[in-house]
Amino acid sequence: MDVNALYAIELIEKLELKPPIDLYELCKVFNIEIVKENLKNAYAYFRIRNGRKVIFLSNSIVGTEKEKFTIAHELGHYFLPNHLEKIDDMYTKTDYMYKNKRKKIETDVDKFAAELIMPSKFINPELEKISLRNFKQLEELAQKYQVSLTSLLCRYVDLNSETMALLCYENDKQKWQYKVFDDFRFDIYEGKILDDEAEKYTKDTLNNWLDENFQGTVYQVIFDLKKYNMKLVLIQVKYYY
Ligand SMILES: [Zn+2]
Repeated sequence: MDVNALYAIELIEKLELKPPIDLYELCKVFNIEIVKENLKNAYAYFRIRNGRKVIFLSNSIVGTEKEKFTIAHELGHYFLPNHLEKIDDMYTKTDYMYKNKRKKIETDVDKFAAELIMPSKFINPELEKISLRNFKQLEELAQKYQVSLTSLLCRYVDLNSETMALLCYENDKQKWQYKVFDDFRFDIYEGKILDDEAEKYTKDTLNNWLDENFQGTVYQVIFDLKKYNMKLVLIQVKYYY
């Protein structure tokens, strides 16, 4: 279990929270205000000013799928030890090491956020039951937790003991990739999605994603999110030993 997620678990246990986790209620318990504003450079940030604890949230994401994860992320900066000091540092230090540290802070916070809104104790048994090829089941589960399909699939990658990664394509160009670094030892390249129907690629046909020294089989599931002009590809790697 990730150490940052433990802080979220502690909150869930203490307040007996159940999904969908109501973050607005949670903020009330801790006297944290949510102020919606037109922010220029961020979706949100957390500040303590004159004793007031405030999450400033961009109007542009209010009511969207991004809202919930973003609030959970900002709560991470509050609940994880010493985090608020660290984010204030951000404005004075710009060296390379600092950027690296900052990246670590943000991924720590994301681990907290994912556990808070998709608690493993509730979502694990449900993820075990569903079939990835059953789009309707996945959508229903995302709705139940009030998260996007993308967040749900990232969570699937987090909690799965298999070696997996999620790739996001927009207009057939890879936009980002999500993987758990300790588990996924290979770099993933820019390659194109080869075939919507194929479920299994061996080394010969999949050199476009993984290094040619890769020894194994790659399985894929493609989620075509036409609404966003976006495709998510979940790949699972089985190594030959
Ligand atoms: Zn942050």
